[in-house]
Parts: sequence; structure tokens; C-alpha cells
Amino acid sequence: MITIGILREPSLEARVSMLSAEVAALVKSGCIVWVESGAGLKSFCSDTEYASSGAIIKSRSEVLATAHIILSINGNDIPALLKGKVLIGIYQPLANVQLIEAWKQQNLTVFSLDMLPRITRAQSMDVLSSQANIAGYKAVLLAASIFPHYLPMMMTAAGSVPPAKVMIIGAGVAGLQAIATARRLGAVVEVFDTRPEVKEEVMSLGGRFIEVEGAADASKAGGYAVEQNAEFQQRQKASIAEHIKKTDILITTALIRGKKAPVLVTREMVAAMKPGSVIIDLASATGGNTEVTVDNATIQCGTVTVIGNSNLAATLPADASKLYGKNVASFLGLLINEKGVLDVNSQDEIIRAACVSSVSKTNSPSTLSPIS
Ligand code: NAD
Repeated sequence: MITIGILREPSLEARVSMLSAEVAALVKSGCIVWVESGAGLKSFCSDTEYASSGAIIKSRSEVLATAHIILSINGNDIPALLKGKVLIGIYQPLANVQLIEAWKQQNLTVFSLDMLPRITRAQSMDVLSSQANIAGYKAVLLAASIFPHYLPMMMTAAGSVPPAKVMIIGAGVAGLQAIATARRLGAVVEVFDTRPEVKEEVMSLGGRFIEVEGAADASKAGGYAVEQNAEFQQRQKASIAEHIKKTDILITTALIRGKKAPVLVTREMVAAMKPGSVIIDLASATGGNTEVTVDNATIQCGTVTVIGNSNLAATLPADASKLYGKNVASFLGLLINEKGVLDVNSQDEIIRAACVSSVSKTNSPSTLSPIS
């Protein structure tokens, strides 16, 4: 029988890779699940709850030594492991080249779920989407809690307050949820994106899409954006500069896969924002979309508050863990057959894309050996 291990994440991470409901389903399907003691505490899932779902509570070293498949979200604190183990998490292989190389040297099989293809069959496993959705929602709430005005229009006996103006740059999963959340709170929302196909989605959420002509064609980039030429960048910056003067809250989410985030908002543009404005930069981990962003920090830029945070999903740990665990359970369905045996189809498009290290030390998982 396969033993699946759930690790406690590093101290700054509040999420866990699976909650008790998904553990119960795995146990029911014939797997053994070992959970590192305290793994779910910050997501409000106690050892007792895991145990009543059929999991066995163990120490970290026991989980690492015995589990065939090890679940985590982050990978940086996982020590050297025995050959043949399978790791599943969000390991960002395009940025963490050395970590992945070390795992290849240890002959581990590693599936990094941020590498899943953006295809319909992979939607239920898409950790980037489940976590970005939370980040977009939380970005608006965070901004609203700092912003010194209302978001909705208020008409009171003491006078009227106009609605806040929110600008969203990047209408992917996080951006679309930010639009929806800001609209629910009554703000007026303007949106920039380089992929013209998002215009309809933006409009259906009640946002105003600001078109900048001449964006590079991203139709062959698997749903991701591509880098833009200098001429387009200049036109886009001019348009952002014009609109940002009237913006109260700016939420930036623009990413280009495997590259530094595009810098779309200059220091001068930030200085031109209204007093008390707030910027939440969700792209901070890859450099940020503004010239002033500092990753994992809140700074004052004149009267503008700028928050750089690419890990806002972790600030909603209970639901973030629940959805992450469901994504992982769905992915495990591709690895484990109905007899409870590891049975990996190395030709599967999803497996090929997510596998960043395999026992053969190549990028092909074709030599994965079954564990029974
Ligand atoms: P992302 O996080 O890679 O990027 C965020 C957004 O920033 C994107 O909309 C991108 O176009 C935009 N952007 C990049 N450079 C920009 C620039 N210079 N100026 C303005 N905007 C810029 O995107 P994502 O959230 O991962 O979503 C990408 C697409 O993939 C979306 O259309 C989403 O609906 C789709 N998707 C499909 C599936 C699936 O079918 N399984 C799953 C998830 C996402």
C-alpha cells in the first residue's frame, strides 16, 4: 500500500498541503496517510481531526523516512531524501534551478504543480488558479482596510461620498477576482491587460477595459502573457500614467511566466496618485510591477502606501489549504490506480508538464517504478 506523507510547512507559511476531508478520502481509497504533528494547526486542522479522518500522526523524520509520496507546498526546507521518493508541491522550477538539480541528483521524482498545462482536464488540479483567486480577493480587502475613504458611493444626511476608483493591471485569475471583489464593494474599476481576449470577461464583471493597441500575440503561449516590445510598453505606460492620477487603489498582478515581472508603474506615476492611495503588488516576488515595490514589505512612497506581497493566499489559510488539498487529491488520481498502486502514464500531457525531476534524472518520468 502507498503511504502518503503530509509535511508541516516552514514557520512563515500558514497553509498545509491537505486538510482532513481529503485525507479521509485517500484513506477510504486504500492509501495510508502519515501527517507530521502540528502540520494543520495554522489552517485550523488539529492532529486529532487528522487522526479521526484515518491519518497517523508522526514526527517529521518518520514521515520523510517512510512516506512514498510526500506532499508539501514549499520545498526549500525538505532535507536530503532516499532515492525513489515522490514529491508534490509548488516548487517554482524556473526560479529554483539549484533545488531541482539537487533533487535530480538524489534520484527523486518531483511533480511541481505550478507547471501544469492550462488545459481543461487539468483545471481541477490547478493550484495557481485556486491560490491566485484567493490572492485577488484578499488584495482588495487589504487595500480597502488601509484606504482612508469608503469604496462604495455613500449618500448620507451628512453629505455624499463618491465611489473609489480601483485600477487592476493584469486580468488573469487574481485580477479577475480582484475586479469582482472591488465591484462587490461598490468601487469603479478600470483594467489593463495585454491579452485582448480578457476584455469580455472584464466587462461582464462590471470593469472598464482600457485598450492599448499593438500588443504581441499571446495565443500560442498556453494562456500566459508574452513580453511586449518597447513601442507597446511606451504606449501602455502613457495610458497608465494618464489613468493613475485619478486612481485610489491600484492592484497589480501582471506576470510573464519564467521571467521578471514587467515594470509598468514608475516612481513618478506613484507620486502622481491621490493622497492616501494604496498599491497592492501581487507580482512582488518576481520583482514587482512598480518601480517602488519591495517584496514582503509595506512602504510609504510620499502619501501612497505600497504593499508587495505575492503570498496573500496564505493569509486565508483554511480555504487556501482546502482548495490546495483538493487540487493535490485530483492530481494524485492521475498517479495512483484503483488498486492503490502507483501507476504513472509517462505519456500523459499533465504528468509530462508537471514532472521536473524523475528517477532517471531526466525530465521524462518514463522510468517511474510502481510502488505497491
Ligand atoms: P498570470 O498570473 O500569468 O498573469 C496575470 C495577468 O497579467 C495575465 O492576464 C496577463 O495577460 C497579464 N499581463 C502580463 N503582462 C502584462 C502587461 N505588460 N500588462 C498588463 N497585463 C499583463 O495569469 P493567470 O492568472 O495564470 O491566467 C492566465 C490565463 O490562463 C487566463 O486567461 C486564465 O483564464 C487562463 N487559465 C486557464 C486554465 C485552464 O484552462 N486550465 C487554468 C488557469 C488559468
